Amino acid sequence: MRLRLADGRELIDGMASWWCAIHGYRNPALDDAVRGQLERVAHVMFGGLTHEPAVRLACRLSQLAPEGLERVFLADSGSVSVEVALKLCLQYQRALGHAGRTRLLTVRGGYHGDTAGAMAVCDPIGGMHSLFAGALPEHVFAERPPDGFDAGLDESWSASVQELASAHAHELAAVIVEPVVQGAGGMRFHAPECVALLRRVCDEHGLLLVLDEIATGFGRTGAMFACEHAGVAPDVMCVGKALTGGYVSLAATLCTPAVADAVSGGEGGGLMHGPTFMGNPLACAVALESLALLERSNWRARVRAVERGLNTGLAGARELPGVADVRVLGAIGVVQLDRHVDVALATEVAVAHGVWLRPFRDLIYAMPPYVIDAGELSVLTHAMVQAARACAIGASR
Ligand SMILES: *Cc1c(COP(=O)(O)O)cnc(C)c1O
Repeated sequence: MRLRLADGRELIDGMASWWCAIHGYRNPALDDAVRGQLERVAHVMFGGLTHEPAVRLACRLSQLAPEGLERVFLADSGSVSVEVALKLCLQYQRALGHAGRTRLLTVRGGYHGDTAGAMAVCDPIGGMHSLFAGALPEHVFAERPPDGFDAGLDESWSASVQELASAHAHELAAVIVEPVVQGAGGMRFHAPECVALLRRVCDEHGLLLVLDEIATGFGRTGAMFACEHAGVAPDVMCVGKALTGGYVSLAATLCTPAVADAVSGGEGGGLMHGPTFMGNPLACAVALESLALLERSNWRARVRAVERGLNTGLAGARELPGVADVRVLGAIGVVQLDRHVDVALATEVAVAHGVWLRPFRDLIYAMPPYVIDAGELSVLTHAMVQAARACAIGASR
């Protein structure tokens, strides 16, 4: 759980290294998995050849994933898995004779990565599309789903999404969203019913549903994948971040046989993507062990305990001046201010309380490793509240 600074001080890590180190650091089982694989082979090309860790990982992922996602493409990073998902959708529509269906429908407030294709489906303002005006494809943006996991389906949001989808259906290949939690776009939670609505909209108009579970996958929201809250399965799903327990970069794009077979049978004869380090054996081996460890660790109970600890510890922040909202879902705790966070000040206060945080915009948040215990949780939440307090006082001075 801890990071040691150069001067010897130790900080409880509230960030899990951008949400991926779910088992904490220097986990003996994960260390051994890397070492064990190193004694066999560190890397081999994944074109024409295959290898055991990749095959086992692909099988494991498709077992864990929602029904129907039986095909797996191993990618280098989350952003690349989104690029792969977008290519899959375009090639799929083209193979079906819909070469004009090249745009994506998404919602405002999203985040899908930093490569060009992924960036184009990020929130236009948060993703600074203006910096790249003319160079990015222009996709179709619906309003952000209304806030609140328990909010149910908002009728006017629902109507506006349906209207947009039917107006653009002839040029749309797919819908892409982060289910239930928008991460780097603003740490917002929305109702699972919104995800279910998007499933219906896709079915109605012949669009593929792509769910980006890179932040939410592997238990973070209290379900193995966030789309389980909605009871829907996508046609294409991206996973990354926690996949290797934070050891090395690896992501995957899963899809249904219908998507994979159409792409394989279409022009080009297959998906047009083949990164050099695709299916790296070291990454696959540690991912397999991370998934095994997740299951051995009784993750549901752990995430529920983290949720309780975050709820208890952050409750007091609601009363603070300058705090606009406090919300918790699974192992995600958010204190939203009514102003931008003074990041330097918030960091200094958190560090003084023995905690590492990385606030952004108006958000002081935590996504800790699942192995955090009750004592560490109370230190973490206390530091978050103190950082929020300092920002409120600092700004009013
Ligand atoms: C982090 C993230 C990505 C990008 O993943 P990288 O591994 O940083 O390229 C994409 N989508 C979501 C939802 C993410 O949280």
